[in-house]
Amino acid sequence: MFRTHTCGELRTSDVDKEVVLSGWVQRSRKMGGMTFIDLRDRYGITQLVFNEEIDINLCEQANKIGREYVIQIKGRVNERYNKNGNIPTGDIEIIVSELNVLNAAITPPFTIEDITDGGDDIRMKYRYLDLRRNVIRENLELRHKMTIKIRSYLDKLGFLEVETPVLIGSTPEGARDFVVPSRMNPGQFYALPQSPQIFKQLLMVSGFDRYFQIVKCFRDEDLRADRQPEFTQIDCEMSFVEQEDVISLFEEMSKHLFKSIRGVEIAKPFQRMSWHDAMKFYGSDKPDLRFGMKMVELMDVVKGHGFSVFDDAAYVGGICAEGAAGYTRKQLDALTEFVKRPQIGAKGMVYARIEDDGTVKSSVDKFYSQEVLQRIKGALGAKSGDLILILSGDNVMKTQKQLCELRLEMGTQLGLRDKNKFACLWVVDFPLFEWDEEEKRLVAMHHPFTSPKPEDIHLLDTNPREARANAYDMVINGIEIGGGSIRIHDSELQNKMFELLGFTPERAQEQFGFLMNAFKYGAPPHGGLAYGLDRWVSLFAGLDSIRDCIAFPKNNSGRDVMIDAPSVIDISQLEELNLEVKIKK
Ligand code: ASP
Repeated sequence: MFRTHTCGELRTSDVDKEVVLSGWVQRSRKMGGMTFIDLRDRYGITQLVFNEEIDINLCEQANKIGREYVIQIKGRVNERYNKNGNIPTGDIEIIVSELNVLNAAITPPFTIEDITDGGDDIRMKYRYLDLRRNVIRENLELRHKMTIKIRSYLDKLGFLEVETPVLIGSTPEGARDFVVPSRMNPGQFYALPQSPQIFKQLLMVSGFDRYFQIVKCFRDEDLRADRQPEFTQIDCEMSFVEQEDVISLFEEMSKHLFKSIRGVEIAKPFQRMSWHDAMKFYGSDKPDLRFGMKMVELMDVVKGHGFSVFDDAAYVGGICAEGAAGYTRKQLDALTEFVKRPQIGAKGMVYARIEDDGTVKSSVDKFYSQEVLQRIKGALGAKSGDLILILSGDNVMKTQKQLCELRLEMGTQLGLRDKNKFACLWVVDFPLFEWDEEEKRLVAMHHPFTSPKPEDIHLLDTNPREARANAYDMVINGIEIGGGSIRIHDSELQNKMFELLGFTPERAQEQFGFLMNAFKYGAPPHGGLAYGLDRWVSLFAGLDSIRDCIAFPKNNSGRDVMIDAPSVIDISQLEELNLEVKIKK
């Protein structure tokens, strides 16, 4: 028997038991005639004691053991004299009588402890060692617990988990597809699903009125902290539902997860905000509502006073950072540098401090009288001790987004984005379309299967850009945790949608003929949503990146540096696939 107990299990109630443990050597130290080894496994750490006076040979053997050796020991549980309150097994130790080295280990490239000296790259290269660390392991445990809870919650409500294929054709979700060449169909490719969208809709046509799947999805996009090329969705779809039905069911599920996993009581109903208001007041379709600092448009107040930057701008807006009037010149310069970074792209920043006596002292005093500055102060609801920050630009949406970044930065700097506080929100009434400047055509804001609001259907013929969608996103702390919509279930309307999106009838038929056809055989009204599991786990774990709740993630260039993928393939493999590689210069 390799073990009678795990390394996290023994307590004072086990004192005097003869036990066998197996695990990894976390650390070993020699003190006088005694050698202490911390033995680790997934469950915890137990202290082992080797005493020269009892068995000098055994002690010498123990002294030769290095970090991360895999060993098995036999011994007696003893109550510790120096108890360690930091670990659950800290009241006991094992007086070892037998030691068996199961496998030696070379020195690991970084220390396998909660706080490690290993940088990101090295940890990714040796991810299997990184996964031995408590902090990463706990994230995977949390992930497991969440998926179990979600499965059982949805199961109880009659949702059926159905697997959909991974080798499919293109699904138009707006990102680039990963493609897989087909050996048996020369010159043809599968695409990996960006989501099971079409399949779950077809399942509704088949009568599976409550579907879910915890499923890998693939999108070939530029990577960020909250994006991986492959990620996991909790994908759901329901028949005979309206927007309210979907929202209220998944709000309840989220509340349940918060309570059962984080022990946090979330108030229902969640706040709702139209996409329009989210953009106007927060410059984002996923506002972080843990703090206020709403954006205020200042065009009327600031124009016409000879300050050309504002006079020529298409948008001027500000935020009020409460209590931040004490920001030094250096801090303000750093903020200006922040908004000027290429990722944000603002040209500059104007600031105004509200002094103790209520007067406003700004970086544009030259152009604005105290009276106008007071109007700015009034518009932003600022008071003594506050700091006003203003951005302007020649593109409304771009400038709003820049101001959004500044708001988030100020929220962070002022400590308003507490990771243990949760602000849940539904963003609703998204536009059905957005304008793609590059392609000079309408594209679906969500995806082409999202239905317009019934009262906006008439706009499809007259002013499609004004049409709103039956779409909703669940946003928590500024993170888009999930999103979905009520779908089009009428083939006529779906065809019209494709037409507005610039598909010729032939191309629509070619790409989606099967779906249009399916809709003709009795498609129920349906809708659903998908959550990003990785984002949700990382939110609950308080992580800044989704990487550390994924066992084997890719780096920012989409590489798995551990197995060194992607990689070139053998010429014979290429030939078999009827492929030739030509790399663009
Ligand atoms: N397929 C959508 C997505 O991946 C979610 C949905 O509409 O259900 O964003």
